[in-house]
Amino acid sequence: MREHASTVFGEMSALAVQTGSVNLGQGFPDTDGPDVVKESAIRAIREGRGNQYPPAHGIPELRRAIAEHQSRFYGIEIDGMTDVVVATGASEAIAAAMLALVDEGDEVVLFSPWFDLYAAVVSLAGGTRIEVPLIAGAFRPDAGALRAAITPRTRLLLLNSPHNPTGSVFTRAELEAIAAVVAEHDLWVISDEAYEHLVYTGSEHVPFATIPGMAERTVTIGSAGKSLSMTGWKVGWATGPTDLVAAVRVTRQHLSFVSGGPFQWAVVDGLALPDSYWASFRDGLERQRDLLCDGLASLGFPTTVPEGTYFATTDVRPMGYADGWAFCRDLPRRAGVVAIPHEVFHDDPDAGKPFVRWAFCKRPAILEEALTRLGRAFG
Ligand SMILES: *Cc1c(COP(=O)(O)O)cnc(C)c1O
Repeated sequence: MREHASTVFGEMSALAVQTGSVNLGQGFPDTDGPDVVKESAIRAIREGRGNQYPPAHGIPELRRAIAEHQSRFYGIEIDGMTDVVVATGASEAIAAAMLALVDEGDEVVLFSPWFDLYAAVVSLAGGTRIEVPLIAGAFRPDAGALRAAITPRTRLLLLNSPHNPTGSVFTRAELEAIAAVVAEHDLWVISDEAYEHLVYTGSEHVPFATIPGMAERTVTIGSAGKSLSMTGWKVGWATGPTDLVAAVRVTRQHLSFVSGGPFQWAVVDGLALPDSYWASFRDGLERQRDLLCDGLASLGFPTTVPEGTYFATTDVRPMGYADGWAFCRDLPRRAGVVAIPHEVFHDDPDAGKPFVRWAFCKRPAILEEALTRLGRAFG
């Protein structure tokens, strides 16, 4: 695990504090989720629901609520009693699924840039990661490149859409092309859909399990932290066919065993929030996206406007930098702003070099302050 000893987020957040920078590095919202969901957690604590070890796979009420959520939003019909497992965030759900499905020496294919946790959990499982770059600049998945990366040892595809860090939302046609490769090579799939509710005007979230033939081989991951803006609560889940979920349950119960008792009760209420919540959540983030992306564009930063997630990407070459690392190391002192280089989300040291990621899940005033600072430094 030595290669996973430090994370860029630690280094950049420390630099942000040291330099008094606006931190657009780490992806967590600076505004909490709904008060009714907070009150629900407080009530659960007061009423003694979840203060002791909850049931191993999650309280039945939450497992039912997660099944209901999959049906309400996507028409996916699963049984909360057998096809759902609650975990300590999407992170633990992904780790448990990886440990359950991947053995020593198995290869795991994943599109790069990838969310940094993935690299570590493939190592934990004793697997080998094989990265397939998204088409540079456009950040679209190339099913031909995926097919070319598959070997007889490939066991699993780790998929992520809406995609962190690029903000791409894979289209139905792209997912169908990926599904054809998965079926041809009889792979299992972990589909990380943590940003399922952050998809903006003109795009649609298509769960991978809804592509024909994929439901029986896909473990789908969700996150209350991301969907309810409560990232500190660490409630997530895996859903899928009974046999795969049974395997994930075995590994997961030996990781944290259980967690977040009262928060599980609150997430039951959160997932049942009316359509107006989900619409205003998405619209608010879309306005923040536009504020940041329009601002960066008007400063001359070539920026890819994301279709989903918390993140936008800029190519720093026109700003006079050869690569994202040089830009991100310089930026706190030059401008008082922190961003993250894409390079850290790849194995190939040349891939992702010119790109940096900005998080826009911050209050408009914070985004405006960051833009003002960037304008002073680069204007
Ligand atoms: C934040 C994030 C996670 C982890 O979610 P938690 O519920 O906080 O564990 C997983 N996948 C992606 C792509 C994320 O951005």
